[in-house]
Amino acid sequence: MSPPAIPRGPAVVFTDLDGSLLDHHGYSHAGAAPTLARIREKGTPLILVTSKTRSEVEEIRRELGNADPFIVENGGAAYFPRSGPYRCLAAGEETGAYRRIAFGRSYGEIRAFLCSLGRQENRAATIRGFGDMDVEEIMALTGLDAARAGMAQRREFSEPFLIAGESDAAAAACLRKLAAAARRRGFTITRGGRFHHLLGAGQNKGRAVAAAARIMQGLAGGEITTVGVGDSENDLTMLAVVDIPVLIPRPCRGFPAGAPAGTIRATRPGSEGWNEAIGKVLDGLTGAGG
Ligand SMILES: [Mg+2]
Repeated sequence: MSPPAIPRGPAVVFTDLDGSLLDHHGYSHAGAAPTLARIREKGTPLILVTSKTRSEVEEIRRELGNADPFIVENGGAAYFPRSGPYRCLAAGEETGAYRRIAFGRSYGEIRAFLCSLGRQENRAATIRGFGDMDVEEIMALTGLDAARAGMAQRREFSEPFLIAGESDAAAAACLRKLAAAARRRGFTITRGGRFHHLLGAGQNKGRAVAAAARIMQGLAGGEITTVGVGDSENDLTMLAVVDIPVLIPRPCRGFPAGAPAGTIRATRPGSEGWNEAIGKVLDGLTGAGG
């Protein structure tokens, strides 16, 4: 791993969850404990940026003791707490304990599009989204318990889906057809660790991270150094807009292609790789006075 770029101000860490801060199998963040403790001690904002839903992220924030803003459903919305350093924020709309800045199209629109396609689809391959599945099926596919699987179904801005084909070629053809129809109708498809995700065109982690970083910078009253951590294709837009991009390897598939030049690469997957890579980034920033 190469040392991080010259820092410009205090760090803000934007992190993916599954396969990055959380292990791909078992969803544990135990391996990241030392660096998480360091981040908490220093008061470095840790912004969770994930394809998960608001209710899933709220649960993980409680576990982590995290009170920072967060970004849900592949950049569908950024949530800022209406308390602490964020209490005077005027952007977005008030919803419960947060202000929500929405970037995506509504789940209702996404489902309506998917259902309209399903009616025309040939039967060599079928598209199944979370809205077509019951809790048991989501549990079996994700390894989540019933409560978490229910939270994963409470969606606002995106639909995870799988394609089951008579053959790999039939599934690939179905995905190509879906991608073309999505483009025509103002939607897009991205690939996460386990699922494809259907979302509004222009909705991605990078756009939401860039907007959140501008807000954080405004609140900091000066430059900040943004760190972005991910493991999959749907993290690349986030890595493209941060000062220090970091990739965590996936257990069997290694790194996704297309990361920005200078990306720091962890040597181990999941929370242990996260701990190692972010620890070194923080060492670099501290060493340089950041
Ligand atoms: Mg991931």
